[in-house]
Amino acid sequence: SAVTVAIDGPSGTGKSSTSKAVAAKLGLRYLDTGAQYRAITWWMITNGIDTDDPQAIALAAGKPAIVSGTDPSAPTITVDGQDASGPIRTQEVTSKVSAVSAVPEVRALITDLQRSIAAEAAEAGGIVVEGRDIGTTVLPDADLKIFLTASAEARAARRSGELRGKEAADLAATKEALVKRDAADSGRKTSPLAKAGDAVEVDTTELTLDQVIECVVTLVEE
Ligand code: C5P
Repeated sequence: SAVTVAIDGPSGTGKSSTSKAVAAKLGLRYLDTGAQYRAITWWMITNGIDTDDPQAIALAAGKPAIVSGTDPSAPTITVDGQDASGPIRTQEVTSKVSAVSAVPEVRALITDLQRSIAAEAAEAGGIVVEGRDIGTTVLPDADLKIFLTASAEARAARRSGELRGKEAADLAATKEALVKRDAADSGRKTSPLAKAGDAVEVDTTELTLDQVIECVVTLVEE
C-alpha cells in the first residue's frame, strides 16, 4: 500500500538531500514544498508585486501556474510553463520567501496543490514531502513524520557550502540570514514551522547525510 512521509525542519538540516535519497531508495515520489513557495515568490518579484504588501500578494496569489515534477532523481518546478529551478535559488528570492509564504491566501493555494500531488502519488506507491508544516497541517495523517534539526552552526556551514561564486557569503552572514528566516517561519500565524506531536525528531548535527538517510529509511520500513 502507498506510504506518505512528511519531513519537516528548519533550513540547512539536510531536508532536501535526505528526502530525495529516501524517495529514490524506496521508489516513492518526492515533493519539495519550499520550491513551490520560492516559485510563487519569484513570480511576485518578476511581476512587480511589493513583497512587503500582504494584500497585494493575496490578490495576485492565484495568478501563476506552479507545476512540480516529482521524480526524486530529477525534480522540476515551472511557473507558467517556464523552468524556475535556477531563479528560485537566488538570494533575492531567499530573502523574500518568508514574507510571501506567511500570507494565508498563498498558503491555502499551495497547500491545496500539495494535497492533490500527494493524493495522485498515492496511486504510484506514495511520496516523501519535505517542508515546514507538512506533518502539522498539509498531511496530518502521514504514515511517518520526521522533524530534522541541527545546531545553527552546522546548518550555516552546510548552507554556505552549497552557495557558489559571488553569492557565497561568509559564514557569519549566512548564519544570521538563516536564523532570521527560521524565526520568521516559526513566528508566522498560519501554519508556522513546527514539529508535529507525533513526529520523530532526528538531530543531524553529528550525523553524515548517509546516516540520516539510513535512519529515515529504517523508520519507514519499521
Ligand atoms: O525549504 P526552503 O528553504 O527552500 O524553503 C523556502 C521557504 O519557503 C521557507 O523559508 C519558508 O518561508 C517557506 N516554506 C513554508 N512552508 C513549507 C515549505 C517552505 O512556509 N512547507
